[in-house]
Amino acid sequence: ATTLVWFRSDLRIHDNTALAAAARRGPVVAVFLRCLPQWREHGHGANQLDFRQRGVVALAEALAGLNIPLLHRDIERFDEAPATLIALARETGADALHFNHEYPLDEARRDARVMEAFRAAGLEACGHHDAVAFAPGELLTGKGDYYGVFTPFARAWHRALTPERLALRDAPPPQPALDIAAEPIPDLPPLEERPIDGRRWPAGEGPAGDRLERFLRFRARHYAGQRDFPAVRGTSELSPYLALGMISHRQCLQAVLAENDGALAEGDAGLAAWVNELVWREFYRHVAAGFPRVCRHRAFQPHTEALPWRDDEPGFLAWCEGRTGYPLVDAAMRQLVATGWMHNRLRMVTAMFLTKHLLIDWRRGEAFFLRHLVDGEFAANNGGWQWAASTGTDAAPYFRIFNPTTQSRRFDPEGRFLAEWLPELADLPAKARHAPSPEQRRRLGYPAPIVEHKAARARALEAFQGLKPAS
Ligand code: FAD
Repeated sequence: ATTLVWFRSDLRIHDNTALAAAARRGPVVAVFLRCLPQWREHGHGANQLDFRQRGVVALAEALAGLNIPLLHRDIERFDEAPATLIALARETGADALHFNHEYPLDEARRDARVMEAFRAAGLEACGHHDAVAFAPGELLTGKGDYYGVFTPFARAWHRALTPERLALRDAPPPQPALDIAAEPIPDLPPLEERPIDGRRWPAGEGPAGDRLERFLRFRARHYAGQRDFPAVRGTSELSPYLALGMISHRQCLQAVLAENDGALAEGDAGLAAWVNELVWREFYRHVAAGFPRVCRHRAFQPHTEALPWRDDEPGFLAWCEGRTGYPLVDAAMRQLVATGWMHNRLRMVTAMFLTKHLLIDWRRGEAFFLRHLVDGEFAANNGGWQWAASTGTDAAPYFRIFNPTTQSRRFDPEGRFLAEWLPELADLPAKARHAPSPEQRRRLGYPAPIVEHKAARARALEAFQGLKPAS
């Protein structure tokens, strides 16, 4: 009998737990179910759908090198997954299915139904916890609850980590050729919006590994000091690859261990700071699994559901299109739309601007980000948005509202990032780019601020102060 491996957001052959486990049983057949309508309903836009598509093509090539055929099916909805996979198992003579878990609610439910269907059909189905060091539920507070705050989670993560949890799974050796042919991967049908140029984000394990290597060689040791400056390429830009599993967190952490004398939390400050971000990634996955209300568009902190979000279509559009009159916010939004990626500092600044200065519901910003991000990932995106809106875990205290002009002076002191994304301001002296005068704005065709910082801040404070505290 063969074993089916169902690939989803783990598009790689190296260090893939499900693939390694399946290959130990015998011959493997790979499957990919493309579920465009439901992915679109979940809010993913052309940038990520295109990146994923190219990732599947790269995966099929890598699998072909191991004589593992990849079978491809288009389905409309997750509900079709059980029957489609059972039919594929019958066609290929498989007696088992292996896959790596995904944690958001709809994905987890889909997987549970697939497991039930396989068992009911007398076939084996096995889910692996591959994208995290600890499966959700393995790290709990003293009271037995999921962590709702990052720092104690991170402490528990480091304390409980053993070398086995980060052990790399070997890519399987090539198997004898099967008489099952790989299927061509149908092109992506035309989407409403055009994806950004794919050369910016070459897909697959090769490009992901190259990026990791370059980051470690040139940037990782400066990460702690440079990660907040958007004009500096100080971060790894690995997020799209991690989101779709073209590289694993274990591969990243093993590379750190090799560079850092076997340490993760200590040793080089840059490497330790980077590890901390990978722990944030895992934290938000546990939050999505442990507090499923966040997967239903609900606030992590229920009492914040009563916030009087404003209905402000012109304000929302100005934010989306990078014309709020706050240069750092506008430059960031233009970076997002043009490249499918935004620097982390700017994700915080723009998310806080939308939710605090404009008092617009975080869910609208969350959806806009997901539509554009190549790295769009439910758990991290939702976690980041709820953090900025002060409705989430570790909620930013609502009264600590970033001043976008101060953030600009602090994190883009030479105005280089502003000049890159707002060419209309590039001729101003660097210092003037952060807050051009009314005369300069008129002359350069750059809008006046759509809200005044102090007044907007006061409005946000009032909205939050009106909330009844959590009981
Ligand atoms: P690096 O600084 O090199 O970090 C390494 C990796 O750690 C990242 O690739 C990512 O996988 C992980 N990581 C880093 N920061 C965070 C974080 N705060 N939370 C969770 N994981 C993190 N990240 C996504 O992957 N997908 C998203 O959809 C997403 N949406 C966000 C929305 C908002 C409002 C905010 C504030 C943050 C969001 N992030 C998201 C987290 C973070 O901004 C990006 O992961 C990071 O900017 C990616 O760049 P990098 O790969 O160079 O990161």
